[in-house]
Parts: sequence; C-alpha cells; structure tokens
Amino acid sequence: MERRNVQVGVVAFQGGIEEHILVGERLGVAVKRVLSLQDAKDLTHLIIPGGESTVIGHHMVSTGLDAFCEKQNEKGNLKLWGTCAGAILLGKKASPYSLDCIDVDLERNAYGRQMDSFSTLISVQGGEGNIPAVFIRAPRIVRVGKGVRILASYEGEPILCRNENVLISTFHPELTESSTMHEYFFSQF
Ligand code: GLN
Repeated sequence: MERRNVQVGVVAFQGGIEEHILVGERLGVAVKRVLSLQDAKDLTHLIIPGGESTVIGHHMVSTGLDAFCEKQNEKGNLKLWGTCAGAILLGKKASPYSLDCIDVDLERNAYGRQMDSFSTLISVQGGEGNIPAVFIRAPRIVRVGKGVRILASYEGEPILCRNENVLISTFHPELTESSTMHEYFFSQF
C-alpha cells in the first residue's frame, strides 16, 4: 500500500470494530478505537462500523462525536467511511441520528431480515477484478444526490458511493479476506 501519514480510528461503541482493526493490521495501519472526542482529536480518517445504527448514533450524540465528525468532515480535515450502519449514519434521513455528510437517502433493513443476509462478488469502478461483499440486514441507497459518485452497484442499485470526503458502503468488506476497500480509503481519500 502507498504510504501516507494517516491516523485512522474506528468508532467503537458497538458493532464490527475488531474486524476493521484486523484489516488495518494486515495493511500495517494502526486503527485506533474511538469512544470520545479526545480519542478522535488527531485523526485524519474515521470509520463508522456496521452494527446497530440507533445504538452507535445514540452514543455519537451523547459524546459529541456526531457534531465533531460533521464539522471536521465539512472542513476537509477528517475523511469518513461508513459501512452498513455507518452508511446509514452518514447519509440523510434513514435514522434520527443521520449526520447528513453525504447527499444520499437510504432505507434501513431493505433486503429483509438477518436470514436474508448474503455475500456476493462485486466490481468497483477503477478497481481490478472483483471483490467479495457481505450484506447483513443491509440498507438500500434509494436516492443519490449531486456531487455523489457511485463506485459499485448490485443488481442495478448503488452499494458504494463517495463524495469528496465521505465513503459509504452498504456491505461489509471487513468481513472478507480482501483489504482492497480499506486500502482505497487509506490511500485515496
Ligand atoms: N440493520 C442495521 C441498522 O439498521 C445495519 C446492519 C449492519 O450494519 N450490518 O442499523
């Protein structure tokens, strides 16, 4: 991976925290657990993991991390990536805790229940070959606004989008052997 001076954190209240830390380890990037404003202070990159968006969102509000993320992201000081529940929190409207950092509307649990979870291979714009993607009670991106680029789709619907400083994926790359998405976030954002 191209070396850059990134300081990476993962919001660590609930959900798939360790999995992101492990992918970071595979790439030689330390991923710090973030539970407070103090933890987030010097970060350049922050991941909001999958899990339960209501629980994660609630803790982000009570710690002030929600406003911090919005502000720092808007200034271009903090790159954000939300996987699944994290994507719900970075988009608009889908949750009472949605931060509105990227102009997309999402619908929660739109592929059905836990039992309807699935994994598939997807191709990412500009990437080489396919990468595995795991969907667990995933949201659907139902509207993509101006300034948002769709980087991957599944059955004709967007599943990976970005704007200048925000990346969202409705799937979980951290639950697979592939480090491609993390590499992309750490080196191209
Ligand atoms: N269904 C969860 C939510 O709405 C998201 C699931 C996930 O992150 N895998 O918050």
